[in-house]
Amino acid sequence: MADDITSEITGRCYCGATRLHATETPLSVLYCHCTDCRRASGGPVAAFAAFREGTIAFSPSEGRAISCVPGVIRTFCETCGSPLTGRNDYLPNTVYVPLGLLDQTDRFPPQIHAQDDNRLQWLHINDDLPRHTSSARSKLNE
Ligand SMILES: [Zn+2]
Ligand SMILES: [Zn+2]
Repeated sequence: MADDITSEITGRCYCGATRLHATETPLSVLYCHCTDCRRASGGPVAAFAAFREGTIAFSPSEGRAISCVPGVIRTFCETCGSPLTGRNDYLPNTVYVPLGLLDQTDRFPPQIHAQDDNRLQWLHINDDLPRHTSSARSKLNE
């Protein structure tokens, strides 16, 4: 997807104080079923668009940075607390943005399930996407 730079990608947090703008389409789009993403997002599963570092900008800023797990830094809107970004040490040069922030979410269906072994037992997503029982880091670092 990374070579499609034809149309811009925009988005915002819940309150609108933070805006985002990306100049490249995401490297990948994924569901993550891990408990850490679940808590950070508040939903039964999180979904992210992974952008190449430097191709997405936040205005006025990426917000407040919080790290509760070694190797993981997330940022949240200073005003409303919406999750804005996630970065993992083991997935370098990549910024994970909650899919729901984008204005063009319909254009970016998820391609994989990460951490599917942590999926809630009652959550049934009926698709044929690959399901990784770990972080899918080898797949995401391709
Ligand atoms: Zn996760
Ligand atoms: Zn906000």
